[in-house]
Amino acid sequence: MKKILITGGAGFIGSHLCERLLKEGNEVICLDNYFTGNKKNIVHLLDNPYFELVRHDVCTPYFIEIDQIYNLACPASPIHYQYNPIKTIKTSVMGALNMLGLAKRIHARILQASTSEVYGDPMVHPQVETYWGNVNPIGERSCYDEGKRCAETLFFDYNKQNNVDIKIIRIFNTYGPKMHPNDGRVVSNFIVQALKGEDITVAGDGSQTRSFQYVDDLLEGMIRMMQTDKGFTGPVNIGNPNEFTILELANKVIELTGSKSKIKYIPLPSDDPTQRKPDISLAKGKLSWQPTIQLNEGLVNTIDYFEKELKINSK
Ligand code: NAD
Ligand code: UDP
Repeated sequence: MKKILITGGAGFIGSHLCERLLKEGNEVICLDNYFTGNKKNIVHLLDNPYFELVRHDVCTPYFIEIDQIYNLACPASPIHYQYNPIKTIKTSVMGALNMLGLAKRIHARILQASTSEVYGDPMVHPQVETYWGNVNPIGERSCYDEGKRCAETLFFDYNKQNNVDIKIIRIFNTYGPKMHPNDGRVVSNFIVQALKGEDITVAGDGSQTRSFQYVDDLLEGMIRMMQTDKGFTGPVNIGNPNEFTILELANKVIELTGSKSKIKYIPLPSDDPTQRKPDISLAKGKLSWQPTIQLNEGLVNTIDYFEKELKINSK
């Protein structure tokens, strides 16, 4: 049994991780300031004596004795991270500093939830971990992209300078139950629009691509990374290499929901990456990991979740 701190534990990915690590027999401390997370995501865990919930902002230092830290605290959808860009960059950078300081002090292992956004609008396709990226430092997405890039730098410097036991994963677009219905991410947006019979809002001409990973596959990759030998730091891409255009995704959601929704084209946001697909050779080699849930299956589960959510909320 390990004592594990999960920052951002009340969010979409964090709440699944809390559940999974508890199931595996660990003690879990979930830390969150509820900016985009919700108590609803973890309320069913509150009766578990091995689960603790802490309201705290990672921009402020936090001290606790634990074995491992998963650092997930950071708004992740463009709408939410652009709402208060200064706060977003503070959360990434000061959050990383505070959690690395904690890891250093108590000799804990720490994993950073980094992102495919560090590759920006990539000129190398598929993206390999050795690619340095093509990121606009002063655009709409910079608070998130550059914040996450700086966090990676801090992780490596704490590793080199203070021998902190770090792990970095670069997560590609992930979807599944418990996504925030209004956070504007494409999978949740399209599903909610289709279920409500509203227009499906495809940005640009819908030819931009993303590679969508189901949340359970991510958890498996994340936990395997945490368990690798000391000295293996990553970064490692964790994503599903099956690539789809956004228009293909829209049509798939319409088909799987049986919706009568029509596609409506909306302006493409600035700096929207044109393509994204992980090279997962490193994860396959080092973690013996690859995704097992493909888009159709994952979408069916996610649609099922949102159908229930919408019914509850309409009562
Ligand atoms: P999310 O918004 O659902 O979760 C983020 C959580 O962090 C929320 O619970 C939020 O309340 C909390 N948080 C935000 N600022 C905080 C602060 N200052 N102090 C404490 N808690 C704070 O997003 P998610 O999709 O679950 O993402 C989790 C992590 O994974 C993020 O770090 C994100 O950058 C990373 N990631 C996610 C994806 C994806 O596709 N979902 C892709 C790449 C990387
Ligand atoms: N997108 C879209 N319609 C929406 C929301 C998003 O066409 O209602 C597009 C968005 O412009 C981007 C892609 O879908 O090209 C993925 O967007 P998301 O915000 O989910 O993730 P990210 O851009 O951060 O990869």
